[in-house]
Amino acid sequence: MATSPHITVLGAGFGALSTVRALRQRDRSAHITLVAPRAELHYLPGSIWIPSGLRTRADLVVPLAPFFQRMNVQHVAAEVTGLDEGGRMVLTSAGPITNDALVIATGGRFIKKMPGIEHAITPCEGIAAAEKIRDQLRAMQGGTIAIGFAGHPQEPNAVRGGPMFEFLFGIDTQLRREGRRNQFELVFFNPSTEPGNRLGLKTVRHLLAEMARRDITTHLGHKMVRLEANKVVTEGGEFAADLILFMPGMTGNTWFDNTALARSPGGLLQADAQCRVSGHERVYVVGDSGSFPGPDWMPKQAHMADLQARAAAQNLLASLVGGVQEATFKVELMCIIDALDTGTLVWRTPQRNVLLPPLRIFHWLKGRFEKRYLDQYR
Ligand SMILES: Cc1cc2nc3c(=O)[nH]c(=O)nc-3n(C[C@H](O)[C@H](O)[C@H](O)COP(=O)(O)OP(=O)(O)OC[C@H]3O[C@@H](n4cnc5c(N)ncnc54)[C@H](O)[C@@H]3O)c2cc1C
Repeated sequence: MATSPHITVLGAGFGALSTVRALRQRDRSAHITLVAPRAELHYLPGSIWIPSGLRTRADLVVPLAPFFQRMNVQHVAAEVTGLDEGGRMVLTSAGPITNDALVIATGGRFIKKMPGIEHAITPCEGIAAAEKIRDQLRAMQGGTIAIGFAGHPQEPNAVRGGPMFEFLFGIDTQLRREGRRNQFELVFFNPSTEPGNRLGLKTVRHLLAEMARRDITTHLGHKMVRLEANKVVTEGGEFAADLILFMPGMTGNTWFDNTALARSPGGLLQADAQCRVSGHERVYVVGDSGSFPGPDWMPKQAHMADLQARAAAQNLLASLVGGVQEATFKVELMCIIDALDTGTLVWRTPQRNVLLPPLRIFHWLKGRFEKRYLDQYR
């Protein structure tokens, strides 16, 4: 391509920003346009600490104007509404934007089909949801708090379970610290008898033992039926709940419906191992938006979004000069399941599955990682 190419990146989360960094490391001259409603990174992993007051919104929202300036990125403050011309034109609320290559990183969406879902807080929807949990906990004098998650029936890895264990253990620790744990019952519910099995069976056993140790009741192995204002109803019985935190399975963004992009059984964008959206030239996907080939435990994590972003950027730049697109990403689950005072480290690759038991140092490391991660965007 004789003139500098026009590359468009959709979203301003982990996958999109890592894509920008990876593109710029290899190409200083490309025109990069990034489309997202706000020039802000919301560091969602830190929102588990909002209910206890360990973090506030201001700690977790990073304004991106300085980063965009450093990276020479043009930010268009708009919502993407669809695609045209095989992906060469992005339709947005601020008008159409053309490109030579496109990276989609607009995250996922949670399925809100279950009857009564409006009675639950969906904690992973963002910082506002975590603030709502904080405020309700403060207002409650006692009662039952029910915390659970479910997956996508057609796509086993379109699930976000890890943070729900963090909210569960974090709230338990918080109530103990406040000296009012005995006024509350905590119930963990899940349609599987092995909740969190993508983390590995060792981890599931550890998590269930930790619940027993903390006197958390479990309601496992029963399909969800509905939620009511003060009740969780499953096929295996119902129980009262004054506060319900529930994460449904994930699916694709609604704007995907206004495109001809290939979709996975769970409604995500169907990609290959090089992060290319199947059947579309120079259209790539990274992060929660995509469905990628790999093991059924492949996580929907910021860490995976970062790894995929590097592969997508490398392949995109190769394709623009007619090169071979051979970059792939490693599959790695890496997380610290935090409990407010300690953390449990889980690491899984196709070859290994490591679990290191709750230690104070892992809680500290999670905070250090957050600071270092956010510093690169400040
Ligand atoms: C509470 C919690 C704890 C977590 N803990 C961890 C952890 O410890 N480790 C880990 O690796 N991961 C963790 N995750 C998961 C991680 O946050 C996600 O996997 C990650 O955010 C996915 O990155 P993404 O770039 O695909 O999407 P997102 O980060 O969701 O970014 C999507 C971006 O697209 C934008 N967007 C959406 N729709 C449109 C549209 N129509 N037009 C334009 N822009 C749009 C959004 O505004 C946003 O900027 C956690 C998540 C939560 C909620």
